[in-house]
Amino acid sequence: KHIAELIAAGEVVERPASVIKELVENSIDAGATAITVEIKNGGITYMRVTDNGSGIARDDVAAAFLRHATSKVHSQDDLESISTLGFRGEALASIAAVARVELLTATQGELAGTRYEIDGGVEQDCEDAGCAQGTTFVVRDLFYNTPARMKFLKKDVVEANAIAAVMDRLALSHPEISVRFIRDSRETLNSPGDGKLKSAVYAVFGKEFTAGLIPTEYEWNGVKLWGFISKPSAARPNRSMQHFFINGRYIKSRTAMVALEEAFKGSLMVGKVPACVLHMGISFQAVDVNVHPSKIEVRFINEKPVFDAVYHGVKTALHSGDV
Ligand code: ADP
Ligand code: MG
Repeated sequence: KHIAELIAAGEVVERPASVIKELVENSIDAGATAITVEIKNGGITYMRVTDNGSGIARDDVAAAFLRHATSKVHSQDDLESISTLGFRGEALASIAAVARVELLTATQGELAGTRYEIDGGVEQDCEDAGCAQGTTFVVRDLFYNTPARMKFLKKDVVEANAIAAVMDRLALSHPEISVRFIRDSRETLNSPGDGKLKSAVYAVFGKEFTAGLIPTEYEWNGVKLWGFISKPSAARPNRSMQHFFINGRYIKSRTAMVALEEAFKGSLMVGKVPACVLHMGISFQAVDVNVHPSKIEVRFINEKPVFDAVYHGVKTALHSGDV
């Protein structure tokens, strides 16, 4: 049983960034409007995620760390139209199996909050705690009990960069959430959460990148498209600045990438590709988010409307963009 736990944990928790991704997705699902993440040493020794979401009621705390404990899916119908980010009920169980986890949480209405501690899947402590409504997870010493996995971790700076990328995507996918990231005591991201995508883009990429953008807004055959594309003059040597989101989720989609670049054809210098921060809104039934546990690779039941929306939306923006 214990070995099976550790193997299952490996599928969800590959590295510190996967812990952060799961925890911040839980914060979003809990309705948080502010999320702060602090890490030390690439997250390997210390990761903290604090949110002001719903909190977890005392009676539900221990169960939340059980595998397949999810409060989010109740029926097969739910599974077919997933709107929350989490739904497998595996993250907390997996994280707790391979680290030392401390949880501080309080719901509205509860007289006292809860402090809970679980190391390597074994409950250590559960007691009253005074805390504001919301949830704080502190995850220490990732993979302390799985040395083989520890060996696969990269240098601190590489792991920290992977977490920073998760935080960037969080800010860009949820401009309505205030997002702070503190890396080895230094604040490296502070997205205000004013609901404006441009504010998030500014916080993540800075002034110069933001100045080179054209706003995009379009709707085509049930696919909504909004965000920013780069002016042709601000094109890049590689695709690292192409960011696509679908229904509030960062995705990789070959279809969207090809559509973007097709739309730019003829307006770019050789060897350059456009940058973008583009959101798509599409009915949940038309997206298969179940392709891979990391849920980044997305499959569309029908690729054509997505291609068309991006292609025509970007073309239209390029024409209106006074370029
Ligand atoms: P899932 O997200 O798939 O439901 P997780 O293992 O990630 O499974 O979380 C288990 C449960 O713990 C969630 O369903 C939720 O009820 C609760 N939970 C986890 N994190 C938070 C949080 N930050 N705020 C409120 N509830 C949370
Ligand atoms: Mg989850």
